[in-house]
Amino acid sequence: MRIAVISLFQEIIDSYLSKSLLSKARERGIFSVEVHDPRDYATDAHKTVDDSPFGGGPGMVMMCQPVFDLVSECNLPKPVIGLSPGGRRLDHALALELSAMDGFTLLCGRYEGIDQRIIDELVDFEVSAGDYVLAGGELAALALIESTLRLIPGVLGNAKSSMDESFADGLLEYPHYTRPASFKGVTVPEVLLSGNHALIAEWRKAAALYRTLVQRPDMIKARGGLSEADERILAKHGYSYKVSE
Ligand code: SAM
Repeated sequence: MRIAVISLFQEIIDSYLSKSLLSKARERGIFSVEVHDPRDYATDAHKTVDDSPFGGGPGMVMMCQPVFDLVSECNLPKPVIGLSPGGRRLDHALALELSAMDGFTLLCGRYEGIDQRIIDELVDFEVSAGDYVLAGGELAALALIESTLRLIPGVLGNAKSSMDESFADGLLEYPHYTRPASFKGVTVPEVLLSGNHALIAEWRKAAALYRTLVQRPDMIKARGGLSEADERILAKHGYSYKVSE
């Protein structure tokens, strides 16, 4: 997968990716990330990439010319995705769609935003990190990159871990415990010490269902409620719950 990022802050992208879990998969050639800086395409002596908004108002706006020139010279992978608070919300389903692609380009805005003509002419669709405003698109781009790449086989050391995780089957993940079995008098669920792997798998499913019921009842609703089998294992492992309306 070839990922290109258009950003005025190359070091933010590079430093995070060099430290993250993904760096090994990058070294193995499973994906590549290249960062292109619009400032390298600015034509004046000051390398200007922003200007004040027409119509007045606070802040600066990223200018057309450096970004248009960058895109026409760099043969970037498609689609071009603009990071924007107004875009499609990044979630597991979107990460899954992106993980099936050969590549894409991420356009990170800064300042008050980007000249709308860049979005209209060069961007295929926009993605948001959530309903809040960041200072720039880099954090959102990194969240998109990491959540997408983790779903590609071979990127994580253990291929099973992304299949087990929250959202993979419409549930939150079950809770984890590690040694010691008793800490300050609080013990781990006994079933985890039993060595009975079938029973442990069943407990994990029940615990995942319960956690999702409590923390994200909307996800239980989205999968059509609880099946009879779900109700059976919840009861068997001692989880009592009330389905909210
Ligand atoms: N003035 C814009 C507004 O009110 O919608 C916010 C501009 S923000 C300070 C600068 C840049 O950060 C945006 O162009 C966008 O690329 C990025 N950004 C901010 N919040 C974001 C979010 N929730 N998701 C994705 N990108 C975001």
